[in-house]
Amino acid sequence: MDTTAAPDLFDAENRALQAARAAYDACATTQPAPCRQALGELLTTYERLLRETRRLVRRSDRAELEMNQLNLRLQDLAAELEYRATHDPLTDVLNRAAVIELVNRHFVCHDLALIVLDIDHFKRINDSFGHPTGDRVIQGVVTCLKQAVSATAQIGRVGGEEFTVVLPGQGGDGCGQVAHTLRRAIEAYAFDLPDGSGVTASFGVSWLPCGSSFDEAYGLADEALYVAKRGGRNQVALAAGHVHVQPA
Ligand code: GH3
Ligand code: MG
Ligand code: MG
Repeated sequence: MDTTAAPDLFDAENRALQAARAAYDACATTQPAPCRQALGELLTTYERLLRETRRLVRRSDRAELEMNQLNLRLQDLAAELEYRATHDPLTDVLNRAAVIELVNRHFVCHDLALIVLDIDHFKRINDSFGHPTGDRVIQGVVTCLKQAVSATAQIGRVGGEEFTVVLPGQGGDGCGQVAHTLRRAIEAYAFDLPDGSGVTASFGVSWLPCGSSFDEAYGLADEALYVAKRGGRNQVALAAGHVHVQPA
């Protein structure tokens, strides 16, 4: 006998039914026929009611199970939707909207450094070798960034071939050095382009105190990026007002 089986929900009703059934069987000669007949009908009706109730309970258990399964699926879908809404499908890093949200959230309580980088002469790569090769270069650049930044840094793709690295709590000198490390990592990476040429990127860096905004940080870093582009590309420029860091 299975002693671990759950107690029957209708134990008390079953006992009452058994007692009534026994009384019905025993009263064949002691009670008047109408009383015995009424008890018999009551028994039949009660048994039917009990059977119906059991069926409803089973159906409700099944519905609850299905609802729990649907709830889990809904949670999975919500997480997937959230991921898709915040990540770039080509590179799996944060998308522009997510970077803006992240930076503004950090600025509420923290200083923050923002590195903006843009692949140099990327159009030539697309034009010479095709869009799929261009896509692979974009993915290769993200691989370089992921390998070179610390776990607290957040990488984002804010444009076609433009990326950000968010460094929470990072000072001016430190973020300049991080940008130089990233620049060298991209320059040294084997992108395996058909003509054997390499890929480089230009960098603009800004650092602002707590209370600032994404627009301010991005505006300053973007200005610096164009200084780096105009200066010949494959270089790092710090936003105006920051101490210049010599490439290591
Ligand atoms: P610069 O050094 O001044 O940055 O020059 P550039 O050629 O890199 O810049 P430009 O803005 O002229 O070209 C960027 C190109 O990036 C144009 C666009 O077609 C391409 N692009 C944008 N998004 C994607 C993408 O997802 N995949 C590929 N393969 N190309 C893209
Ligand atoms: Mg470019
Ligand atoms: Mg660009």
